[in-house]
Amino acid sequence: MKYYISEKALESMERECRRSPNTETGGILVGYRADQDASDDSKVIITHASGPGPESSASATHFVKDTPYLQSVLELLFQYHQVNYLGVWHKHPGDMSWPSSGDVSSAMQEIEGGTVGLQELVTPIATMNSGRVEIHPHVIRDGSALPVSWESVPHDQLPDGRSVANQWHETEAGLNRLKEEMAEFEAQDIEVEVRRGDDGTYRFHASLDDNPTRKLVLLCHADYPITPPDAALYDCPSGDYEPVDSEPLSGWDLTWRLADVCVARV
Ligand SMILES: [Zn+2]
Repeated sequence: MKYYISEKALESMERECRRSPNTETGGILVGYRADQDASDDSKVIITHASGPGPESSASATHFVKDTPYLQSVLELLFQYHQVNYLGVWHKHPGDMSWPSSGDVSSAMQEIEGGTVGLQELVTPIATMNSGRVEIHPHVIRDGSALPVSWESVPHDQLPDGRSVANQWHETEAGLNRLKEEMAEFEAQDIEVEVRRGDDGTYRFHASLDDNPTRKLVLLCHADYPITPPDAALYDCPSGDYEPVDSEPLSGWDLTWRLADVCVARV
């Protein structure tokens, strides 16, 4: 078995760990398998890692996932990219870089329960040392945790990864989300223009009340709103872009809307 992980999924885990330096956190891992005839050549490709969800709770040694939220992440990613649940990642305190016996038994319960249809769960553990995040890949199968190695690959170069390029706004779930976004812009009285990039990505050019010569440009990636938009202030006279950060972007989850990013900025 060979394991691959998108650099984007690694970045998501690192970002989530830095956001919760003093508590445990984690989320689900999603991706696909590319099985060949010889089982040694089977590939497991991790495309996405989520956070714990807005209703999760955490302490220094423990965290409880927001299961309904994670279910909606799974449903959205399946519709967009035909990817499925592969396992869970979580952060451990100190330098405990391997799954605990409790982690092994809960993973085995999930496997033996049969609902996930998997023989093993990918179960990486994150640790943090003076602000630096390390991710230690493991899988749990047959009642034990095994360290594995994985290759990290740019998101657009994943093996057999064509479906990750599919655009959110070309699916039914994505179109519903687009409608909600436009309704929220209207409710906030924000004028917005939607443009399609050459790569199929949608960019939202929102007018700002305080300065008619500047626009807030929100670029939505293929898997929006799983990944937050990239935001930049566009200065019309000079053509310059200036990156923007804000609370909705750093703590992004599916409950935020593009209009929230505009409101936070104004
Ligand atoms: Zn653990």
